[in-house]
Amino acid sequence: MTRAFFATYKIKKMKALVYHGPAKKSWEEKSKPVVQQPTDAIVRITKTTICGTDLHILKGDVPEVTDGRILGHEGVGVIEEAGSAVTNFKKGDHVLISCITSCGKCDYCKRGMYSHCENGGWILGHLIDGTQAEYVRIPHADNSLYHVPVGSDEEALVMLSDILPTGFECGVLNGNVKPGDTVAIVGAGPIGLASLLTAQFYAPAEIIMIDPDDNRLSVSKKFGATQTINNQKSDAVAKLKELTGNKGADTVIEAVGIPETFELCQSLVAPGGTIANIGVHGKPATLHLESLWAHNITITTRLVDTVTTPMLLKTVQSKKLNSKQLITHHFKLSEIIQAYDTFGHAAREKALKVILTNE
Ligand SMILES: [Zn+2]
Ligand SMILES: [Zn+2]
Repeated sequence: MTRAFFATYKIKKMKALVYHGPAKKSWEEKSKPVVQQPTDAIVRITKTTICGTDLHILKGDVPEVTDGRILGHEGVGVIEEAGSAVTNFKKGDHVLISCITSCGKCDYCKRGMYSHCENGGWILGHLIDGTQAEYVRIPHADNSLYHVPVGSDEEALVMLSDILPTGFECGVLNGNVKPGDTVAIVGAGPIGLASLLTAQFYAPAEIIMIDPDDNRLSVSKKFGATQTINNQKSDAVAKLKELTGNKGADTVIEAVGIPETFELCQSLVAPGGTIANIGVHGKPATLHLESLWAHNITITTRLVDTVTTPMLLKTVQSKKLNSKQLITHHFKLSEIIQAYDTFGHAAREKALKVILTNE
């Protein structure tokens, strides 16, 4: 009796990374999630990671995230339980979790705009508990999970939950990158690097990375950047004009999310060009219409829809895209506090993406 009681008790608890207000987080015991709707699935996490967005949340930039929320919106795992209405997945299936939850049925989903799903969108680790835990509940599992192909490298696939589709959809597709173009990417963190990798699908002539961190700039060179500019050591606008015959860049991708970098993008874009914003902005930024009104430019914003995940999965599987090179550090899931410290001091630690393994 007693033993059975404790056995049941044990399965119902799990460990998770819990947000307790700005700058406060802890690795603690929480209840294991259960199926709440027939369309839910419970996934046992095998690998997860930390996103720049999680750092924004911890800075207090995302006030909708409330005390007690489990963070995280990326990961790979195994289906522990599938609700009765889930038809694409069953217990034991190996799955990739999309950072965007989508019902597949509402008006926005029908338009492929999963990010604004009326019954989902970016909710994981935001409005509902997320993936930095031993288990996670995924609503609308049929449309929000992807089968992991047999023989795949799990760690490479974790990069497909968020950063690769984000860099590609918000940066490259919205930025209208074309063969022969000049692309400037402001910010050489994981998202900027994901744009750098996926921009190369379209064979632009030049990809110029701009960042204050020399290590990240040298990584960018290895990932295919043709030129780099350290905007702390030099005048990025003057340097870019010099590199482009005074024209500017056809596509400028903002991959930082502060007013200064968005304003810098406005000084880098060529007439007829596009500024594609990816950054999560917590403050207003000035739009310089006094210089841009006659320049025929386009400014785009987007929350990733993850509609390109199946395509990106194929490019990773066929090794056309080496997503694993974005991973610099490995930790056990139980060492997540240490992993946050490393990721939060990215320049000091030379960190890009960290992988957390649930052992
Ligand atoms: Zn993210
Ligand atoms: Zn929907």
